[in-house]
Amino acid sequence: MEIKEQVFAFSASLHLCVNVFDVPEVWHDMTPVQHTIDTAYVVGPVHCYSAELAGELVLFDTGPPTEEAKQYLRHNLDLPRLKHVIITHCHIDHYGLANWLEQQTNAIVYLPFRDHLKIVRHNERLERMYDLLIQIGFEPAFLERFRINMEDGTVFPPLPENFKIIEEGLPEELGLTVLPCPGHSQSDLVLIGADWAVTGDVMLRGIFQTPLLDIDLLTEQRFRNYAAYCESLTKLATLRDKQILPGHRESIDSVDNCLLFYVRKLLERATRISKLPLSMSAVEIVFKLFKDDFTRPFVSYLKASEVIFLRDFLAEPELLQKVLSDIGLFSQVAENFNRAVSS
Ligand SMILES: [Zn+2]
Repeated sequence: MEIKEQVFAFSASLHLCVNVFDVPEVWHDMTPVQHTIDTAYVVGPVHCYSAELAGELVLFDTGPPTEEAKQYLRHNLDLPRLKHVIITHCHIDHYGLANWLEQQTNAIVYLPFRDHLKIVRHNERLERMYDLLIQIGFEPAFLERFRINMEDGTVFPPLPENFKIIEEGLPEELGLTVLPCPGHSQSDLVLIGADWAVTGDVMLRGIFQTPLLDIDLLTEQRFRNYAAYCESLTKLATLRDKQILPGHRESIDSVDNCLLFYVRKLLERATRISKLPLSMSAVEIVFKLFKDDFTRPFVSYLKASEVIFLRDFLAEPELLQKVLSDIGLFSQVAENFNRAVSS
């Protein structure tokens, strides 16, 4: 597997100012360095980022739990100097080596609050998820296969034993602002630095990242990805003047274009779903529309997750319309929007 490294623009340079009075060193933070590591997942390679913040080495996301990724980090990061490992969201391609880094380095691992909840209530979460899957129309035999898939180590890598919760406070000197932008998952966090933002999977060029069906452990109900996504849109629009550092694919030169791509896909797919009777379950739609044969349980789960997200939009389209109007993007998708809600 080929592992590449791309170094992001070093436009902001690093200055080290020491004067005759031996004043402490003053670090001017630079744009994080992008590291690209292959994964075995359909999404392709993942990016993690390293940065010197206040003179301390910080890693955002870790890559997947593979030998290649370990080799990559060993060769390209000064691991003995690593102080902080900050995770955007606990999907395997983004935090797969958090446990390994905890063992190999003295770094502190920071995880999103929502992922911490899922970790401490892991079994309960899975049981509730399985109930949810039955409710939306999956057969018990499917569930058996899904359960094996979820518990064979390919979805959940080993966890770090000690970690801190990001929302409870990152060290102030790092100068990071945390912006929760759930939708794809419950936990997605954006980490904002001086003029850049590490955005994980909340904005990806040319990808409609599936809003994943999950249980909200705070309400013990289904997590409302659609409502969360609408709220997150307002926050993502505030990143327009930042350099976006995404978790996959190429860089993002326009926040608006990236959001519009996603919204257009949403509307296009919702138009197809809107023609089907409400009496059809999400699983029946997956079978009919995607010709799914249910041989890959995790893929069927992803498709069903998408159908539920789209149906939530169709039940309450005005939510999205209002947010898009507020951030000045509605007119660019008005036609697609009307097509989706009028059919
Ligand atoms: Zn990802």
